[in-house]
Amino acid sequence: PALVSLRDVTKVFSNGVTALAGFNLDVVAGEFVSLLGPSGCGKSTVLRLIAGLAQPTEGSITWPGATGADHRGEIGFVFQDPTLMPWSSVADNVWLPLRLRGVSKRDARDRIAESLALVGLSDFAKAYPRELSGGMRMRVSIARALSLKPRLLLMDEPFAALDEIARFRLNDDLLRLQGELRCTVVFVTHSVYESAYLSSRVAIMSGRPGRIVAEVRGERRAER
Ligand code: ADP
Ligand code: ADP
Repeated sequence: PALVSLRDVTKVFSNGVTALAGFNLDVVAGEFVSLLGPSGCGKSTVLRLIAGLAQPTEGSITWPGATGADHRGEIGFVFQDPTLMPWSSVADNVWLPLRLRGVSKRDARDRIAESLALVGLSDFAKAYPRELSGGMRMRVSIARALSLKPRLLLMDEPFAALDEIARFRLNDDLLRLQGELRCTVVFVTHSVYESAYLSSRVAIMSGRPGRIVAEVRGERRAER
């Protein structure tokens, strides 16, 4: 069964904008799905709905393949802008999601170290965000999303602000990470290259209101 299933979802914002109408998407465990489409077609709205940060106006979002009641704890969200806390060290930034769940820094220590190792930043635990390059800051933000060991990683144009070299490196890091963690990824981008390179499936969206107009296979196999 699908890990998460969106059925006939409509999202109308309070200002009257219909961001999505009759939107359907099944995300299967282990796949890397890209949502590809122009700005404003509703890609971020889809991620926010899956994460429970917004509610659908109509339609349903169900978790047929999720185990346990609190599936939201199993979601990691990587935003377009890394939004790290500038006054906190890299380690403390990665600790944040655990801290919000009441996990002490002492108990979080192994998880923080593990997450930083996954993104290649073990030597930078004590550094501050301002001391890091844009690519490194994005990797901290990915480590932060991984600290909860999510089954589902939602990424909203995470590499859009980076130069191409940083972007290519992070694309490869992300593929390695998914292979190691065997997590499911929903990745939002407006780069055709990125979607084809990273994904097992590309859902092409068009607006407005946003919906999926075509689906194609990407270059990757789904992790099972
Ligand atoms: P994308 O991620 O594809 O750029 P979004 O999901 O951010 O698209 O937005 C889809 C549409 O919904 C856009 O027209 C946007 O202006 C509108 N929108 C998004 N969030 C809100 C909001 N909180 N209030 C009102 N309109 C919004
Ligand atoms: P960007 O492309 O945004 O500058 P990168 O992540 O490619 O960001 O890193 C830029 C530079 O930062 C690298 O060339 C390297 O000198 C240093 N750096 C990045 N990650 C590490 C790391 N894990 N260990 C040591 N140095 C690093």
